Amino acid sequence: MRDDLHARAEALVERETAAFVAAHPVSEALAAIARQNYPGGVPMHWMLDWETPVPLSIVSASGATVEDADGLSYADFCLGDSGALFGHSPPAVARAIADQAKRGLTAMLPGPDTALVGQQLARLFGLPFWQTTATASDANRAVIRWARAITGRRKLLVFDGCYHGQVDETFATLEDGRVVPSRGLIGPIPSASDDTLLVPFNDLADVEAALAGNDVALLLTEPALTNTGMVLPQPGFLEGLLRVARAKGTLVAFDETHTISTGRGGHTGSLRLSPDFFVLGKPIAGGLPAAVYGFSAAIEAAMRRVQAARPDGYSGIGTTLSGNLLTMAAMRACLTEVMTDISYLHMTSLAAALADGLDAAIATRALPWCVIRLGARVELVFRETPPSNGAEAREALDPLMERALHLYLLNRGVIVTPFHNMMLVSPATSGLDVERLVTLMGEAFDILTGRAG
Ligand code: PMP
Repeated sequence: MRDDLHARAEALVERETAAFVAAHPVSEALAAIARQNYPGGVPMHWMLDWETPVPLSIVSASGATVEDADGLSYADFCLGDSGALFGHSPPAVARAIADQAKRGLTAMLPGPDTALVGQQLARLFGLPFWQTTATASDANRAVIRWARAITGRRKLLVFDGCYHGQVDETFATLEDGRVVPSRGLIGPIPSASDDTLLVPFNDLADVEAALAGNDVALLLTEPALTNTGMVLPQPGFLEGLLRVARAKGTLVAFDETHTISTGRGGHTGSLRLSPDFFVLGKPIAGGLPAAVYGFSAAIEAAMRRVQAARPDGYSGIGTTLSGNLLTMAAMRACLTEVMTDISYLHMTSLAAALADGLDAAIATRALPWCVIRLGARVELVFRETPPSNGAEAREALDPLMERALHLYLLNRGVIVTPFHNMMLVSPATSGLDVERLVTLMGEAFDILTGRAG
């Protein structure tokens, strides 16, 4: 079956690529100009990794809709890979940004929104103390640094298949039981295999073995792996992690940058877990570059001891624009007016309808695939049952099949996340958007299975 699916996927890619090129002369022309000054014509090289022959050039993004330079509009289920999880330019955030823009953007000092944001973060995520950074990558790097300073240990434990942003130590993969630098990295990263321990997700015995040497500063993980397809934690796994790590003096950070899709308090809140650190980036300021990390009172006390003991000099943690006036205003609006219970109710119920619709579409065609959902996040996975670790998830990736599906959808006005098959539902996504996506996926499945031409 796989060979037949692949042969039809190849033909579909060819057809849809030609259709895309014909429909996007303006995006192509703009890319040609941009190529003179940006390698590949894009301001960040990843933008070339979309399945399209040239990147769409976006002229407007509002709610769950984006419009390109060729005048075509799309129901957006990528939502900036979570940066716009709560919709593009949520009105409350746009208003806060416009108001604050009249009163200053950055001063390397706090403003009145700082206190409000701190209170709201503590209320929503259950940790009393917070710091801000410009990106989730920065937040994870800061947490690793603090954990090393507090514990006096160097090592980091992460899970095979993890992604935590531009954090050198985490770019490692398990190959035949050995930790090796991940494939495709630009430039060598010596620390990836020296200081990083890597074990399979959902395997508590392996976690225990990795921590046995009492030399691991931090266990950093997403509550569910969301960057290699999607791997949900088995019941009791996250609780077990916390128990085992505490016993060994290893601190635990939950990176909720994607799993904030679960609910208002993140996955941590839904399971009432108490990690030492909690990281959240991407949508926290409605799409402006901003992230936060929270920590317990015990960690805050330990940080004070670290600060008191260190000599004068750069701390090596923090960037100039972090926590600036503009992003704090956006964060305040996002936390208080956008990330509401009502928003989550809408997002999760529509995502459930989407997952059910895709499940039915797969079952009708007897495809060997499954659908996984984490709140407002839905993932189509090319294997019969949900993967239980990163290796299984990696094996299920199928770039050709993704390309065929994504191009088919794009040419009919629907965007899903590139790299895998992630679909996000925002408060602005409509039931009609979801119906359209399910119908189009069904049509594409018919073509791939030979039911339609
Ligand atoms: N953590 C997780 C779980 C992520 O998925 C990502 C980005 N996909 C990051 C951190 C890094 O976010 P950023 O690229 O905004 O720094």
